[in-house]
Amino acid sequence: MISESMKALTAGSSVIRAMFEEGKKMADIYGKENVYDFSLGNPSVNPPSVIKDAINTILDNEDPKTVHGYMNNAGFEDVREKIAASLNERFLTHFNGSNILMTVGAAGGLNVIFRTLLNPEDEVVVFTPYFGEYRNYAANYGAVLVAAGTDKETFLPDIEDLERKISEKTRILLINTPNNPTGVVYSKRVLEDIADVLRNKSKEYGAPIYLVSDEPYRELVYDGVEVPYVTGIYENTIVGYSYSKSLSLPGERIGYLVLPDELDGAEEIKAAANVANRILGFVNAPSLMQKVIGECLDASVDTGIYDANRKLLYESLISYGYTCVRPQGAFYLFVKTFDVDDREFTKAAK
Ligand code: PLP
Repeated sequence: MISESMKALTAGSSVIRAMFEEGKKMADIYGKENVYDFSLGNPSVNPPSVIKDAINTILDNEDPKTVHGYMNNAGFEDVREKIAASLNERFLTHFNGSNILMTVGAAGGLNVIFRTLLNPEDEVVVFTPYFGEYRNYAANYGAVLVAAGTDKETFLPDIEDLERKISEKTRILLINTPNNPTGVVYSKRVLEDIADVLRNKSKEYGAPIYLVSDEPYRELVYDGVEVPYVTGIYENTIVGYSYSKSLSLPGERIGYLVLPDELDGAEEIKAAANVANRILGFVNAPSLMQKVIGECLDASVDTGIYDANRKLLYESLISYGYTCVRPQGAFYLFVKTFDVDDREFTKAAK
């Protein structure tokens, strides 16, 4: 017998996963070449060749007991130092290795920080529409996801609604920019407005509200749009990063959390996150991939391919009469259906 909570979760399993399974079935019937699978966020671009080179070099030259061994639960010190230095160079921050905790992708990082900060019944506020797994990650710790609105035309945060949705139970505001599924990128101005609300509400309720910035799409942006680094805008910011999309490595499960010294209770949070990484069963992020990342910090994928797809899909759909915000980042389109009932529309389209 499975647990009550898993019964509900299994029954209501992800719609996106269901689409993926259906795509596989349709490929069997109609041929793989005739089915375009736009379900899971699997990058269509290959990882840069330096990844394979780094894997080979590390395996050929480094001590296998180190490369494949356990280490500090937060990750290899040398890799964390290199990531901190790279962030400092790019975003004029002042992190060191102790501010970086290597994680099992963004999903692992979010679970670590939720486990670290949330008590049962605490609330995590998130702007709609959002990555569906957030609800499950909050529920893992008995916390509740609260949706705050966005402007229906631009999908930018509705700041007044944010003020209304924050309560004394709010511990975290979770943002995701560039956004899945809208492709919207928050400007510095938008982030400053969010920071003002969080500062005021933290003061009103006498407890810090942490801003968790989920950033797996940071590098996938177009038309030269800037993605501000949020730790410089709001002091209680934790960044969750992942190489799943930026280096096309989703199956390798590698990312990190940034836990700045400016956080309220920074030392306690760093120590607790370390333990959370261990006791959630991750123990540490994949060791070989940590080493690979340490050697490939300047690597990138060809975002021109995503940009060409974006333009073709966006411009075509608009010419057919659909409405959709023009994505500035990530690789999604959030298209309004002609029919008010999106499920009926999807059925008909299929
Ligand atoms: N956050 C968002 C917004 C995502 O879209 C995804 C994956 O698609 C994740 C987190 C999880 O990414 P990872 O593979 O790094 O765990």
